[in-house]
Amino acid sequence: MNKSLEQLIQISKFDAQISSFGPQIEAQNEKLEMFKAEAVKLKKEVDARVDAIEEANSKKTKNNIHLDELKSKLEDVAKKSDIVSTAKEVKALQLEEEIAREQISFTNEEITRLDNLIELKESELVDLRAELAEEEEAVEALETNIAKELNVLNEQRGKIAEQRDEIITQVDTKVLSFYQKIKRWAGDSAVVPVKKQACYGCFMKISDRTYSTILQSEEIITCPHCGRVIYKELEEEVEEEA
Ligand SMILES: [Zn+2]
Repeated sequence: MNKSLEQLIQISKFDAQISSFGPQIEAQNEKLEMFKAEAVKLKKEVDARVDAIEEANSKKTKNNIHLDELKSKLEDVAKKSDIVSTAKEVKALQLEEEIAREQISFTNEEITRLDNLIELKESELVDLRAELAEEEEAVEALETNIAKELNVLNEQRGKIAEQRDEIITQVDTKVLSFYQKIKRWAGDSAVVPVKKQACYGCFMKISDRTYSTILQSEEIITCPHCGRVIYKELEEEVEEEA
């Protein structure tokens, strides 16, 4: 095979491998972001429970103060009932007492409701805090793992880049700039194999005449349809994909 063509095929394969690291790294980071987002969501839910408990406790305090006021009112009514004399006054006091007792009962109900609410939110809080701790642990473990994997990926990428750079120093500069021009629009498919007599970049059929030139592999040939460099795959590669 033409030496330059062989080098271009290798460079192109290394370039494609290097590009494939991008999505791999991105996938790792996306996974981490997902775990982090879940932890943030849980933290918000924990905060919401803490706020709800605080609010309920503050309401409970107010209700307890109100309850004390109502109780002292009842005491007042009891004291007054000793000194009132007319039936009208007695009736007025009875009404006052009745209202105070109703309010006490309502306030007690409210306090019970708040106690139940606090109990519920506190039990939710225990579960959520446990979940959050678990999630934060998972995030931490994942971060460590991903850091390791990214190191491995970067190392692999570095090695491939080294191999590619090595060939680049050997390849004819004109051939290289020709490749780089195609790469600008074709990306990682600047150099593609011909399979079943079709270009694997644009998938158009190659004429018999061009195809026979390709089979000789003596020069760098571009696809007449799309302009990518095309080559006939080696037998072993064909078998590999079969
Ligand atoms: Zn083509």
